[in-house]
Amino acid sequence: MTQELQGRVAVVTGAARGIGAASVRALLGAGAKVVAGDIDADGLAALAGEYGDRVSTHVVDISTEAGVKTLIDDAAKTFGRLDILHSNAAGIVPEDTDVLTATDDAWRATFDFAVMAAVWGARHAVPLMKQTGGGSIINMSSGAAKFATAAKPAYAACKGAIETLTLYTGAQCGTDGVRCNALRPGFVLTEGIRSLFNEEQLAGVAAQSALGRICTPEDIADAVVWLASDASGYINGQVLAIDGGGMKPSIAW
Ligand code: NAD
Repeated sequence: MTQELQGRVAVVTGAARGIGAASVRALLGAGAKVVAGDIDADGLAALAGEYGDRVSTHVVDISTEAGVKTLIDDAAKTFGRLDILHSNAAGIVPEDTDVLTATDDAWRATFDFAVMAAVWGARHAVPLMKQTGGGSIINMSSGAAKFATAAKPAYAACKGAIETLTLYTGAQCGTDGVRCNALRPGFVLTEGIRSLFNEEQLAGVAAQSALGRICTPEDIADAVVWLASDASGYINGQVLAIDGGGMKPSIAW
């Protein structure tokens, strides 16, 4: 096991399950200490039980600035510094139907959850990271920002906004020693995705994939560790697609 993040402290939002939980485990595995936030108290309790005092958990709503700030303040209070912010949590509201019918409330709720949480994260994390020479922020985009397949316009537009936010955060905070990059996953086999699709549908997705398998939360977490580490020290303002090369060519020429 590598320990490239020994002595570093991370905050991960949406940490109780899926990609967030895999990110927490990978960051801990690489030697970091982690502040983990989520609205799911049971999921957080399972993480805390597994990793003891190397993880500090908080039940917070990251669609509020206070919720995000609680996590960042705790990194300073409990572990004395902040080096890594994985602004991971985002989601789809049921009213995010289509461009013509999605309600204003659906748009605003999605933006608070998926975009403002990352803005608030940068706002509060950068000054703290700067105190110890800098850090790395990792935001979450989605293939939905590039391909109109998700049929959830507010969610997809938020991911487009996240990509531009990432570019600007990297450009404006680089001289503070803070890099900012985003990951753009395609289809990731989380608990949430498993609950939406049956085995036959999932096998179909795997068969269409260029790598012949579906991306796992651990595939994404490995990239989080790389972007958090000094091995990616000159990578800034970038969006890294993690989609296994996309789909196999489906038309024979
Ligand atoms: P998930 O739905 O499996 O988990 C999200 C976590 O966030 C849950 O633990 C949930 O309890 C928590 N959460 C929900 N609302 C919250 C709130 N208001 N405050 C705090 N925590 C809250 O999500 P996931 O599939 O692991 O996705 C993680 C990120 O990756 C998201 O930004 C998502 O858009 C992105 N992504 C996922 C996929 C995929 O296929 N799973 C694809 C592309 C991008």
